[in-house]
Amino acid sequence: TIVTRFAPSPTGHLHLGGARTALFSWLMARHAGGRFHLRIEDTDKARSSNEITAAILEALAWLGIAWDDEPVHQSLREDAHNRCIDRLLEEGKAYWCECTPEEVEAMREKARAEGKKPKYDLTCREKNLGPGPNRVVRFKTPLTGKIAYTDLVKGTIAVDNAELDDMILRRTDGSPTYNLAVVVDDHDMGVTHVLRGEDHVNNTLRQIHLYEALGFDVPAFAHVPLIHGPDKKKLSKRHGAKNILEYRNEGILPEALVNYLARLGWSHGDQEIFSRDELVAMFEASGLSTSAAAFDPEKLLWLNSHYIKESPVPRLADLLAEQFAARGITDCDRAVLEKIVPQYQPRAKTMAEMADEAAVFLIDDTDVEYEEKAVRKVLTDEAKARLAEIRELLAGLEAFDESSLENTLNSYMDRNELSFKHIAQPIRVAVTGRTRSPGLFETLAILGKDKSLNRIDTALS
Ligand code: GLU
Repeated sequence: TIVTRFAPSPTGHLHLGGARTALFSWLMARHAGGRFHLRIEDTDKARSSNEITAAILEALAWLGIAWDDEPVHQSLREDAHNRCIDRLLEEGKAYWCECTPEEVEAMREKARAEGKKPKYDLTCREKNLGPGPNRVVRFKTPLTGKIAYTDLVKGTIAVDNAELDDMILRRTDGSPTYNLAVVVDDHDMGVTHVLRGEDHVNNTLRQIHLYEALGFDVPAFAHVPLIHGPDKKKLSKRHGAKNILEYRNEGILPEALVNYLARLGWSHGDQEIFSRDELVAMFEASGLSTSAAAFDPEKLLWLNSHYIKESPVPRLADLLAEQFAARGITDCDRAVLEKIVPQYQPRAKTMAEMADEAAVFLIDDTDVEYEEKAVRKVLTDEAKARLAEIRELLAGLEAFDESSLENTLNSYMDRNELSFKHIAQPIRVAVTGRTRSPGLFETLAILGKDKSLNRIDTALS
């Protein structure tokens, strides 16, 4: 069976690139009915934190990328890593090295000066040193021949062994290095397919040497191209790339982000909208693109509005309540929320935008902000005189629903030979402070009688 994994380092939050790697790895496993594991690569104790680990798990869970079994913490596996290093030493496939970092740097400098590949010069290879202070363990990379593999995305990749250094497996402080730890962990976790960013290709070639030296089966590798900003440079904060949880806070729906990420470097014909089930059914590594994908925030918003339109009202009402809570508006009437959602659902790009626009329904009447320009242009003396008459009519209404409002206001217009445009904007500005809101009758009905009258009184005062 296929076993994949996602192996984030909790030195930074989960961003688009990592989330996409996780999604592809998860899809590869789910498509094949296999297993998907999580490994927290927390060996850099100074830079890793439990808070970031928790945030990464929260972000993955939010995206619906569920892992099998408990996450593996790489830092707890040092003994397993060291046993493998000891075995390589015993088998003569690794050796102790006493060269100092300064000496190694001088060797590299010398090679560079001679126009050769800067490398460790193998001084300690034949010394047969044992353990000792300030000694590292290095891997005996074959001196001749090639190392090659067929990447599921990039095809055949090969390098002359002469290009590779005798990499360090154990540092002077006794800690195992990244390449060694990853190989031992992936083997012990039964990983059959390693999918990650193409910045790891050079590590992969070195890791294959370790798999072979340790007598482990070499997994299949898929290296996905990096994500670029619209300017074709590596994606960064400057392009609006952020912690995945920020997208949640901004009111992106997880299925929109999943759909977006899936299409960022993977395709299936010209289909753009994929449900989660479709992705699982259709995902094949052969659909992965070989060239870098560019992050397009507009497309993410387009997908998000699509999924907002498709979502059931009660779910959006929950999300809207969360958005309001983040704005300090906590006592939301559920029925009001469910009336608000359909007013904005057809056009909203994010739930944050919906909350910004709809907040006017929930804030205290005294917090309504009257746009200066709207007041000046719309609330003329003539308009105010009519508004005062309308206020009395509204005050007399028993049922404050859309059809009663419509009937009352229509007959007022008929009696006074006015059209909708004479009354709609003055009422709208009076009750919302702005010239833009959902339909007039809907707006009044959602606000209810008390709020509507209160606000008209403020506008008239
Ligand atoms: N921890 C590595 C990273 O965050 C991933 C290594 C791997 O996938 O093998 O880049």
